[in-house]
Amino acid sequence: MRITGVESQVVSLPFGMGGPPPSFAGKAWTHLDILLVRVATDEGLVGWGEAFGHAGIQATRAALDGIVAPLVLGRGAGDIAGLTREVLHAVHLLGRNGPFVFAFSGVEIALWDLAGKRSGQPLAGLLGGGARGDLPAYASLLAYGDPALVRRNVEAACAAGYRYVKLHEVTREAVAAGAAAAREAGARLMVDVNCAWSVPAARRMAEAFAPHGLLWLEEPVWPPEDAHGLARVRGCGIPVAAGENTAGLHGFRALVEAGALDVAQPSVTKIGGIGEMLRVMTLCEAHGVEVAPHSPYCGPGFLATLHLASARVERPLVEVLWLDMEANPFDPWVRAGNGRVRLPPGPGLGCEPDPAVLDRYRVGPVVRTT
Ligand SMILES: [Mg+2]
Repeated sequence: MRITGVESQVVSLPFGMGGPPPSFAGKAWTHLDILLVRVATDEGLVGWGEAFGHAGIQATRAALDGIVAPLVLGRGAGDIAGLTREVLHAVHLLGRNGPFVFAFSGVEIALWDLAGKRSGQPLAGLLGGGARGDLPAYASLLAYGDPALVRRNVEAACAAGYRYVKLHEVTREAVAAGAAAAREAGARLMVDVNCAWSVPAARRMAEAFAPHGLLWLEEPVWPPEDAHGLARVRGCGIPVAAGENTAGLHGFRALVEAGALDVAQPSVTKIGGIGEMLRVMTLCEAHGVEVAPHSPYCGPGFLATLHLASARVERPLVEVLWLDMEANPFDPWVRAGNGRVRLPPGPGLGCEPDPAVLDRYRVGPVVRTT
């Protein structure tokens, strides 16, 4: 089975989040943009992947269309490990953590989708997992800044059935408001501060948050590769989670060996795809570090995370963005119900995108490399 074509396209899905949208680089964040990768083969099968984009989606797309797609064209679709080694070596001088690795992640996920389709198995089964029909999820709230809005949205997430809620807030007031709402609903709270603090500031804030009984404090330290700094925040009363900005197996090895992590958060659309996730998961198993994959996305990367978590995480907890999308080509599988997410039952990732939804929400052209 050879790769005969790689297509990229972006869909832009309007969403609401129960408050004013945050802004990034001067733009209000009102649409969820997904960079979709479609890999076609000479056997007629196609696979779907997702490459991390966020505000940098056009940079990832340029890396995909200009470099990564030509590198994989004509290659065998089944030797995923060999292709990973070859492509990541070819682009390593362009960055070990950034658009080129994100772009390859999208291709790699599509190759696993193809492998599942070719064998007639769901990806979770291909990875050696059993048939878990659904998994517990947590609501990952965007940043509100306003304690009243934080409280209102934690209450709404709990009313929707979530038993776990994560905030993206950095102030004591906002976290206290979220913690009070979670406590009243009998839910557990996590806090993600996206690398906001120096190590001494992170230690002070962790000690201040400790009475709230958080499940974890995520990325408390700037920069994210300060493994020894993260290790110093452990022991301040809250388990430490990190890893969404960590480059590959060896980046995680540095964190684990420094004693930096209670919870590892590898990200399938960023780290190089499913194979690298498996290598990181094995490393974490060997060192007694829990894994809660980073998955604030809503396409094939999310579906891949469901299969990985189902097959390889003993106590999975799946990150689901707390936002209300107008539509999604992978509905209904990218949404939670009563605090749980279901695995689509088909082979590979388990479902195909709805072409009408792709057409309706696509922005820009479909770029084909053939
Ligand atoms: Mg995070």
